Amino acid sequence: MRTAVFSTKPYDREFLSAANADGAHDLAFLEARLDAATAPLAEGFEAVCVFVNDRLDAEVIAILAAGGVRVVALRCAGFNNVDIAAAARLGVVVVRVPAYSPHAVAEFTVAMLLALDRNIPRAWARVRENNYALDGLIGRNLHGRRVGVIGTGKIGAIVARILKLGFGCEVVASDPFENPEVTALGIPYVPRAEVVAGSDVVTLHCPLTPDTRHLIDAAAIESARPGFFLVNTSRGALVDTRALIAGLKSRKIGGVALDVYEQEENLFFEDLSNEIIEDDVFQRLLTFPNVLVTGHQAFLTEEALGNIADTTLANLAEVASGRMPANAVTPTRRAGPAG
Ligand code: NAD
Repeated sequence: MRTAVFSTKPYDREFLSAANADGAHDLAFLEARLDAATAPLAEGFEAVCVFVNDRLDAEVIAILAAGGVRVVALRCAGFNNVDIAAAARLGVVVVRVPAYSPHAVAEFTVAMLLALDRNIPRAWARVRENNYALDGLIGRNLHGRRVGVIGTGKIGAIVARILKLGFGCEVVASDPFENPEVTALGIPYVPRAEVVAGSDVVTLHCPLTPDTRHLIDAAAIESARPGFFLVNTSRGALVDTRALIAGLKSRKIGGVALDVYEQEENLFFEDLSNEIIEDDVFQRLLTFPNVLVTGHQAFLTEEALGNIADTTLANLAEVASGRMPANAVTPTRRAGPAG
């Protein structure tokens, strides 16, 4: 199937090419991000392969369909950037990679929490300047702290297990669907408001939906324990960034670790080191000593990239053979995660 691969980075090319070693797929690698302006580049292709910040609204899908595209293959689990109903109306099949390596994201979440809590990035910056003073670097043990996990699907369940069994945290969870692997660890499910209000650390692992948008807002921050830590490796818009900044300024929040940001599509995955950044909210966020930000890299392991490439090509092959793939997203099959 002739496929235009949008938002290609060197690692996408490397892993997709390795998965396509037999040359079964005709892949054209494009660096452009897919949006209404770049959609005409896909004219004449049967499929597009896209990532989290490509925009597939109704307008873009109409341009793609008019140009002959009949498959959208997401190299990720999440599909909040795709108008699934518009795709269905135009007969465009959408496939995704529902799970590639939940361990990659879960381990990165714990790494961020430790780095934030123990001031590792700041300590390393000091050591590189031969500054070995320790003042300002005091952390707190994770052992015994209360951690609230919001969303206990594939990733959240692993985070809960690592923190409970590995660190001896007191873990509580919130999810409309209880995961037996989590309850088996003796982790109780409590209402979301209780998780936020009663935890020293809140870590987000639910998808972005109308119900979860800005679930951490001013009221949630107000209800939380003074000095609480927030970790978000899920989706940026789960958090109201302006409310976060207010909570940091008032000292209500003790620390924030973010791998995702609500306006990240204008920033992440690109080298902007020679640019003027116009997002004042994001720039303000970076000024706090107790904020750690990474550019949506929690998934970035060899294992995850290999799984993403293999599943994406298998999805394309399944559509090419005329079958409706198990990994298809349809308007009625939307209960899956964002990822
Ligand atoms: P999953 O579908 O296995 O789990 C999501 C869980 O969230 C489910 O158990 C679901 O019931 C729960 N949920 C839904 N609505 C909820 C709500 N209102 N409150 C609490 N829980 C709710 O998904 P996953 O594979 O564990 O992925 C979790 C999230 O991680 C994804 O949604 C995605 O946004 C994010 N992700 C980030 C990266 C990254 O690189 N940073 C990579 C992959 C996934």
